[in-house]
Amino acid sequence: MAPAVATPVPILSEGRAAVWEEPTGAAGVRVRERPLTEPVPGAVSVEIRGASINHLDLWMAHGAQRVTPPRVIGADGAGVVRASSDPRWRAGDEVVIYPVVCDWECTWCLSGQNVKCPHFGIIGEHSDGTACEVFHVDARNLYPKPPGLSWPEAAAFPLTFLTAWRMLTTRARLQPGETVLVVGAGAGVAVAAIVIARHLGARVFATSRSEVKRKRAIELGAEAAFDSTDFSKAVRQASGGGVDVVFEHVGPATLNESMRSVVMGGRVVLCGSTSGVDAQLRLARLFFGQMDLLGSTMGNASDFEAVLKAIDEGMRPVVDSTYPLSEVQAALTRLDAAEQFGKVVLSVSEGR
Ligand SMILES: [Zn+2]
Repeated sequence: MAPAVATPVPILSEGRAAVWEEPTGAAGVRVRERPLTEPVPGAVSVEIRGASINHLDLWMAHGAQRVTPPRVIGADGAGVVRASSDPRWRAGDEVVIYPVVCDWECTWCLSGQNVKCPHFGIIGEHSDGTACEVFHVDARNLYPKPPGLSWPEAAAFPLTFLTAWRMLTTRARLQPGETVLVVGAGAGVAVAAIVIARHLGARVFATSRSEVKRKRAIELGAEAAFDSTDFSKAVRQASGGGVDVVFEHVGPATLNESMRSVVMGGRVVLCGSTSGVDAQLRLARLFFGQMDLLGSTMGNASDFEAVLKAIDEGMRPVVDSTYPLSEVQAALTRLDAAEQFGKVVLSVSEGR
């Protein structure tokens, strides 16, 4: 661990907030009221309009993360500046939140590598989260809200688009005209991957267990979508011998099929493993196939800026559904049932 170089600006969730209190899943997340304070030096307080939830919130609610409750959930947030101690922002500015916890001052952060910061974390896991009325965060975590997006859309994209963008561009070096297979289409990060890959001019294939989600993937621009079991043969056939890149977040249940789906010298990029933490790999495929197996998590501020630029160019997030903050348990239950296509958003009151 590198020595601490600065005390990060504290991240605070205030007003009515969705607080995870005990490891009983959605039922363990309850709306509580917290007192409001003024932002400390370096911090900005934001009246949250929308906050979206991720599988991460669900794992935490089930007690699967190394987090001790209470913890306010939510990595994603968009809203209006309430008060600012930093000249870059004024009350009334509409903002979105870069969902990374970091100190902004270490050598890595200063060189633009926030993901390597010794204080690196995810908002809502390593700090309190955005599912609240007023959220305090370092001024450097804020960016202007893309004007073309609604509040639910602005709350929907940060974590998933940041993650998928870095996976496809920085890590997998996806080029226009190349082919991508997105497994487990339906999950927020996978839907982001389809949208981004299309935006970048790639040809997209997808898999899902659900016929409805396969249909949605095609509507979003996938050429074809296949069932989640034994998909590699169909993928190789449809793509003319295999895809250049596989976008993975499922892990053990699909990884060998994913590795069978790439061309010689292909890339498999992975940001999670929702089907378990240990996988058995056919290693011969890796080395005989000259394959790159790439890990990735979240992204740097520069990746977030690239996502914002792509949104300016017309890229759009996909909102599955919107629930009021008071119905956070129902929102988490929808995610738990894997019914969603795109992001489940919490809408938070219009000011207070
Ligand atoms: Zn740092």
